[in-house]
Amino acid sequence: GNAGIVGQASVHAPSAWSNPALAPEQRAQALLRAMTLEEKAGQVSQQFMFGAFDQFAPIVRSGKVGSLLFVTDPAIINRLQKVAVEETRLKIPLIFGYDVIHGFRTIFPVPIGNAASWDPASVERVQGVAAAEARAVGLHWAFSPMLDIARDPRWGRIVEGAGEDPFLGAAMARAQVRGLQGPAIGTPGHVIAGPKHFAGYATAEGGRDYDSVYISDTQLYNVILPPFAAAVQAGAGNIMSAYMDVNDVPAVANHWLLTDVLRGQMGFEGWVVSDANGTKNQVIQNFARDEADAAVRSIAAGNDMEMSFGPAASAETLAASVRAGKLLQATLDRAVLPILTAKFRMGLFEQPFVDEAAAKTILSDPAHRAVAQIAAERALVLLKNDDGALPLVVGANKRVAVIGAMANSKRDTLGPWAFQYDLPETVTVFEGVRDRLGTGATVETAPGVQLKRNVPSMFESITIPGAAKPEPRWDVARAQGEFERALALAKKSDLVILTLGEAEDMSGEGASRADLKLPGEQLKLFDAIAALGKKVVVVTMSGRPLELDQVLDRAPAILHAWYGGTRGGTAVARALFGDVNPGGKLPVTWPRTVGQVPIYYAHNTTHSPKGQAKRYWDIPSTPQFEFGYGLSYTSFTMTDPVVGGGTLAPGATIRVSTEVTNTGTRAGDEVVQLYIHQRAGRASRPVRELKGFQRITLQPGERRSVSFDLDESSVRYWNGAVRNWVVDPGTFDVWVGASSTATSHATFTVGGQPRVVRG
Ligand code: BGC
Repeated sequence: GNAGIVGQASVHAPSAWSNPALAPEQRAQALLRAMTLEEKAGQVSQQFMFGAFDQFAPIVRSGKVGSLLFVTDPAIINRLQKVAVEETRLKIPLIFGYDVIHGFRTIFPVPIGNAASWDPASVERVQGVAAAEARAVGLHWAFSPMLDIARDPRWGRIVEGAGEDPFLGAAMARAQVRGLQGPAIGTPGHVIAGPKHFAGYATAEGGRDYDSVYISDTQLYNVILPPFAAAVQAGAGNIMSAYMDVNDVPAVANHWLLTDVLRGQMGFEGWVVSDANGTKNQVIQNFARDEADAAVRSIAAGNDMEMSFGPAASAETLAASVRAGKLLQATLDRAVLPILTAKFRMGLFEQPFVDEAAAKTILSDPAHRAVAQIAAERALVLLKNDDGALPLVVGANKRVAVIGAMANSKRDTLGPWAFQYDLPETVTVFEGVRDRLGTGATVETAPGVQLKRNVPSMFESITIPGAAKPEPRWDVARAQGEFERALALAKKSDLVILTLGEAEDMSGEGASRADLKLPGEQLKLFDAIAALGKKVVVVTMSGRPLELDQVLDRAPAILHAWYGGTRGGTAVARALFGDVNPGGKLPVTWPRTVGQVPIYYAHNTTHSPKGQAKRYWDIPSTPQFEFGYGLSYTSFTMTDPVVGGGTLAPGATIRVSTEVTNTGTRAGDEVVQLYIHQRAGRASRPVRELKGFQRITLQPGERRSVSFDLDESSVRYWNGAVRNWVVDPGTFDVWVGASSTATSHATFTVGGQPRVVRG
């Protein structure tokens, strides 16, 4: 054992760590030398604060936590911090974390909706505002962004990420880290970003949340890790490890993932936190013998901090484990150091408190709502628009019905991970339409149906002060009455705007599904309304692609709004009435039916022996809507790409250009997408891979040249046999266009010898 070298340093010596002139790392080293084993075990422990100040003050005083999560009241944060910096031996401030997923007070589109904007600059702005609001109440750290590449929409957490593609995912990762953290950790008004869940969480078998994942190294490196690598390069200060087993080893105790890959290969220098109870879960996973063993094994693997419901195993047992020789003190020190460094970098030793009065002003800043509106508009994806059904003409309909379970639900406008459900500033679709039409029309609303999970959401047990409880389940009479009321409203209206989709708690954590149909009685409602022969426009709201069944054929227009956030309803209304032209694109392949899942565009084989189109005999093998798809109120053309130079030499760059023209009569946005394909090499490569995109706005008739620079990083891939990043010379196809089925095509050549090209 190494108990002999453990001593309690004197706190009376001049403390180098309080000298702000020293670098954060040096101060952390100095502080670490002064700490007891118990104090170190406390710093690697984080607890959920579900409870009152009086219950948590003694825990903070005891030094058994270095961090708390789920407290968002600045007054309570200050009081707890006061205990930490005045009543503990070394006066180490707490670091406060929270799930700032798509906003704090101002809520933005859910992450998959933000990704649908294909606009990293807008997403960076969004996370900048989220950071400002979170920091304003005293939070220092966001458990965000979620970077899990998701190709299975049954998995409820698909809503929290950027979809199926590693290149788009990496762009969104960089944007979000920059937005949250600002140019460097410690920038005022910003928080530390904690990308999650490392790694492979979205590949859960059957889409069942938390189930095991079995992933090959090639899939890990080529598909799952690129967004994390981008986040690390962008300076992310924290990473959250995942819950589940990865190839039979829990991610939280996976030394290869957390130490060899994340730190060794990707160069991560921050600290890793477990997912909630992730450390202790190793016992349930039949991996660790007991909680003490679990705490040792996650720390030893490279998981520095334990996030815990109730007392953390780390705080309770690690000191004894070091004394018993089960864990090297140096290993514990390695875990403590980046946590202390983060606290120094955030300036917490100089200013541990937050200005409670300023918080109110920042949270109510109207500029934040304006950012939310633009983000919600940019997330909209027009799925269908026959015969110019949209945009609607203001003044053309005197009686307008906005019907559907989500039509006037603030909670469902915000989506999962919003927590404060009843904020007055949230604009529902009904309110957005009513406000847009003003006195020019009578706008009424009715839910028609109720959407309820068969199994209650895990979030129903979390009590957020001031938040209304979800409405109890309707009885048969109420359900009947509401259905008829909605139908009667539709009958007396000239236009029906019908929201269809999922309630906010039907995606997110613990919200996986076995099928993708419209839940509840929504199809029945749609059929009944469609049978009236009125003009019906459908607005879909969900965090995942859904089977739309007869809605696809019978609704003339379908606008997918995801969950738009605080200004979600304003954005929908503005798009429906043509104030804004939808320009978002799907960041995920939209299947025809759940049986096609997993389905994604970047699959490997163009030709199965009997032909691509015949892989199922009952339905087409193609998706309902392909990755990158989205319509506009205007139309665009793109010329075949021109490749400057034609050959990509080692270390060089080639430029691929296309001319884009707005051939319609309205201004609009196009997302110009570039895909490549390697024809032959040392591995079978995907039929297409996204390697560039730009969202541009063009006026009617306007023509613009768009170009992309490709270099070796665009064509390299991780080769399982070479066990490294390689470039294979040869011929590549390149397409540019408006989706992953783009047909404007050219080729280029990658020159040189087969080679290893590290990132
Ligand atoms: C989720 C994480 C989240 C954490 C804290 C967990 O259950 O998996 O994504 O950050 O809880 O709320």
